[in-house]
Amino acid sequence: MRRRDVLKLATLAPMAGLASPPTAAAQARPAVRLRPGGSDDGFDPWVEVIASAFRHNAGEVSRLAGGRPILAVVKNNAYGLGDQVVGPIVDGCPQVSGLASVRPAEALAMRAAGVRKPMLTMAELGEEESAELVRKDVTLSCWLDNAGERLARIAKRAKRRVPVHLYLDTGMNREGMPIARALPWMEGLARQRDVRLDGVYQMFVHDIDFDRVQLERFAGFLDRASAAGLRLGMRHAAATFELHRLPETHLDAVRVGNALFGSPPGPGVTHAFDARPVFRLKARVVRVERVEPGESAGFNRGFMPTAPTSVALLPVGHTDGYASAAAGTCEVLIGGRTYPVVSGGVNSAHTIVDVGADPAVRVGDVATLIGPDHPSILPAEVGARTKTGTLQVMTRLSALLPRRVVEA
Ligand SMILES: *Cc1c(COP(=O)(O)O)cnc(C)c1O
Repeated sequence: MRRRDVLKLATLAPMAGLASPPTAAAQARPAVRLRPGGSDDGFDPWVEVIASAFRHNAGEVSRLAGGRPILAVVKNNAYGLGDQVVGPIVDGCPQVSGLASVRPAEALAMRAAGVRKPMLTMAELGEEESAELVRKDVTLSCWLDNAGERLARIAKRAKRRVPVHLYLDTGMNREGMPIARALPWMEGLARQRDVRLDGVYQMFVHDIDFDRVQLERFAGFLDRASAAGLRLGMRHAAATFELHRLPETHLDAVRVGNALFGSPPGPGVTHAFDARPVFRLKARVVRVERVEPGESAGFNRGFMPTAPTSVALLPVGHTDGYASAAAGTCEVLIGGRTYPVVSGGVNSAHTIVDVGADPAVRVGDVATLIGPDHPSILPAEVGARTKTGTLQVMTRLSALLPRRVVEA
């Protein structure tokens, strides 16, 4: 890698600057989640996070949403890429008005990494960690029947009025206050002086016909709540699937993750825009050796060439998140050419590649195993060939791999 391609090494001090003593949530977080990137002549594999791809995707999402603000979903450790790395990039996109995560540690880590925009946690959380979030200017969600009492105790602990979005269930039956009981519940919360109702939302099931039913239920509720004189705040509902398929759901903001991360809206649904992959998995070649017919490479003699060839070794494997099923199905990009991963060639920490009889590949060359740089290594292609799916190719990347933010 050329040094000037590396804008920033992910040498973030984990958990630095958090309230002390740390909460249980903070303590549960491993001390080192994102390791500093290896040295430029080392052989540790790494993940590149592509800043311009996020900005491009955010611009396209905004266009599809008719210029409405984006509530950027960065849950699940930013879909596997690292919330402390992705958070600041997304925070810097002008179309993004706020960030949404699920677990308290994610929101705290992103605040510690410098994320400034409004943040929302999309779950019911413990009261102690909720109070800590409120002190860090993170908006909570609630859906439990006793949310009023819980929020009152949280407000007391935080010594602040608690900003909250109400999460309603319009038929997914996963999370949220069932809409049939929601109006008196919301009226009760609206009367509480220690609570500030800043928003109301719901989640679609991503079935176009039932999504329409859910939208009708949600809109009906919002009408009744307005008629009752309740302040609704920001109304948001659409995730990536509805961003594409149901513009009438866009309301005040779209709440999308996959679209920003370049992953498809759903099984069999493709993006309505040029969604760019936002990461690469890379490693340096650590060995190139000839293999003669009759010899083999790897466990169980998995690869037995019938003509002389050479194998290159990449010190990256399935524990790093590169699927075992890539062996015999996927290719890697080295020096502008693609080479096949040999049968049986993906082990826990090693990948063996057939680089041909007269190899152009040298020790120290950088290999890209997944990324936007060639059609055969696109996340969608690797996902299809390994039967893991585009999203899992990203979410399964080990959190221990160093992250490097690159511009392009
Ligand atoms: C994950 C999630 C989203 C984002 O969904 P995408 O398909 O990634 O856009 C939105 N809202 C809620 C409540 C979620 O859990």
